[in-house]
Amino acid sequence: MSEPEYFDHGALVAVMTTQPLGRALDYKAPEGGCHLGAFVEVPLGPRKVLGVVWGAGQGDYALNKIRHVIRVLDAAPMRLELKEFLTRAAAYTVTPLPAMLRLATRAPGLGDPPSMRKVYRRGPAEPTKLTDARRRVLAVLDEYGDLSFTLKELAEMAGVTSSVVKGLVGQDVVREEDSPRDLPFARMDPDLPGKALTQDQAAGAAALAQGVTAGEYGTTLLRGVTGSGKTEVYLEAVAAALKAGRQALVLLPEIALTEQFLTRVQERFGAKPAEWHSGATMTERRRIWRMVGQGRAQLVIGARSALFLPFQNLGLIVVDEEHDTSYKQEDGVLYNARDMAVLRASICNAQVVLASATPSLETWANAEAGKYRRLELTSRFGPAVMPEMGAIDMRAETLASDKWVSPRLQQEVNKRLERGEQAMLFINRRGYAPITLCRACGHQIGCDDCDARMVEHRFLKRLVCHQCGESKPMPETCPSCDAEGRLAPVGPGVERLGEEAALIWPEARIATLSSDMYGSARALKAEIAGIAAGAADIIIGTQLVAKGHNFPNLTLVGVIDADLGLMGSDLRAAERTFQLMRQVAGRAGRAEAPGAALLQTYQPEHPVIRAILAGDEEAFWASEAAERKQAGVPPYGRMAGIILSGPDVAQVFDAGNLLARNDGALRRIGAQVYGPAPAPIARVRGRHRVRLLVKAEKTAPLQEALVKWVAQVRLKGDLRIAVDIDPQSFY
Ligand code: ADP
Ligand code: ZN
Repeated sequence: MSEPEYFDHGALVAVMTTQPLGRALDYKAPEGGCHLGAFVEVPLGPRKVLGVVWGAGQGDYALNKIRHVIRVLDAAPMRLELKEFLTRAAAYTVTPLPAMLRLATRAPGLGDPPSMRKVYRRGPAEPTKLTDARRRVLAVLDEYGDLSFTLKELAEMAGVTSSVVKGLVGQDVVREEDSPRDLPFARMDPDLPGKALTQDQAAGAAALAQGVTAGEYGTTLLRGVTGSGKTEVYLEAVAAALKAGRQALVLLPEIALTEQFLTRVQERFGAKPAEWHSGATMTERRRIWRMVGQGRAQLVIGARSALFLPFQNLGLIVVDEEHDTSYKQEDGVLYNARDMAVLRASICNAQVVLASATPSLETWANAEAGKYRRLELTSRFGPAVMPEMGAIDMRAETLASDKWVSPRLQQEVNKRLERGEQAMLFINRRGYAPITLCRACGHQIGCDDCDARMVEHRFLKRLVCHQCGESKPMPETCPSCDAEGRLAPVGPGVERLGEEAALIWPEARIATLSSDMYGSARALKAEIAGIAAGAADIIIGTQLVAKGHNFPNLTLVGVIDADLGLMGSDLRAAERTFQLMRQVAGRAGRAEAPGAALLQTYQPEHPVIRAILAGDEEAFWASEAAERKQAGVPPYGRMAGIILSGPDVAQVFDAGNLLARNDGALRRIGAQVYGPAPAPIARVRGRHRVRLLVKAEKTAPLQEALVKWVAQVRLKGDLRIAVDIDPQSFY
């Protein structure tokens, strides 16, 4: 039976709210009726809450107690496609639907009627007296041309009080105008000429464009080394979507959302796309949410949560750097945006492009199995070639204690400095030093609330817990034995490496890049743009710099500790190290000068290190695939992590044991349970954590069994249970 499209006044409707309730609740349609999918406000106890008209009411509740929908919000009703996506994503990730709905409604005041606000732009007059503050206001207005600002934005950006701006309004130097709060986005022009593509690129672009135009679902792995033109190719697919009158979404890891990239998109289509990320203001979020729903934002560039926007006619989803671990949301709703992109596209007949130089084994296996099409760009665009890869055998190098840059790496950096080229030293560790040790008693400073050491961040002048984010000033005396002046840093972090580099190369301009060292994403982006333009000789960076930035003058990458990722028991350790090292190496030699990447390692014979050096990716994947098949782990088997947590360790363990003992629902589908065991980080934010791991065959109906199984635990008090389908991290 198909759902009615419209409900007359008084008809029973089922409303799904964003509140943590088990099911949709019945209400009576308001005066004027409401559409299926309408965003509504409903009474819940004494409160008013947001909800969506999910279908006809169930009618299993006393009719005289059913209340009316308060009002229908001024927003495009949720389309069936999105409703189905949320329902299936909730089932796949074993997440309650209301939590899923919250992801799709994360914009403030999304139902408010259109309203006006005052905006400020450059006026015709010149100021009577040019003070320093006034000059700064004019500088901001000049820099941003025709963009208009709110009073607060303009004053903040110029670093002046709002009365300075108001003063300029009085002289007509600045114009004050009324403007609707939610402006549509400027039209993008897909007919502007793109770059002339190489043969490889053109073939790839044509194949993608064909799929988009046909309006069919399909997923394509677009593989090519960094610099091979993957972006150029998928921008052609975006053009095809725009020409077909459909919307496009490009997902990027948060940190790859750079000005560089946005400028490139703007050049290609002649207008700015909508930009959805954690730094976007609330006003901007609301504008994007509404305009996407009305089809008046054609292209969204966003971080993973952009996947939940209410697109009107989505034709293409690009997941750039598809292997990136940040696509997996690790708290709240545990979902993988890459996999959910494929799900959404299959529901709305859209194309998916998964772009990467180093795809995940999951995606590689899907391409091998013929589920995804595979497009290869085999060489770098233009004269640039892949960097030469080499190992520095650290067993043969002499290094003073507390020093990490080997003599050989120093020599190589010297050569680049002499030639006026850039060099990068990479270490995947934030902060100054991972351990702070008391030389008197051996105590290591840990977090009060977590089972983790605190990491010194000298730049912030604090110790920081990387698990819970708690921080405290560096103590003068040892918290354990009170010895004074005996606390010492152990091991390197990016800040300490920067310090060492400054000692080795006192003349060089050194830039240290780490996400926590910049007040805002904007400041970090500005810094990166400056470096790309030549503002530094040596770049010291974490993971952050491995992701998609273009430094044309960079010709050497030195990896300080290539062995770091190989420790630990993560099933993807080899894959992650392989990807990260290839990505980092890919930063070198993008323009005319050829690049080199050198890996400092204590185990040059390790198979992963050898595969990285040999650059034989197919061989690496094939052997990695064989091992995972053998072990029956993803992508050849299914896994789910169960994390129980609570303030009372006995209660948490009891719940874990109860699940382990009563595993009938899982045994019926042939799945096995491992654990309970204390999680590797056994306490976070004062909560004790216990893990179980479930393994099943690839075709087993895992989710249904999991739902029945975990329902046996009564969630008393502060006990919580999280189900992590396809876990990516096991901490
Ligand atoms: P990827 O996304 O694979 O890293 P890009 O698309 O960013 O590669 O391309 C790398 C660089 O080469 C960019 O500066 C891009 O503009 C340039 N480029 C790629 N293909 C072409 C082309 N056909 N014509 C001109 N420039 C190109
Ligand atoms: Zn902590």
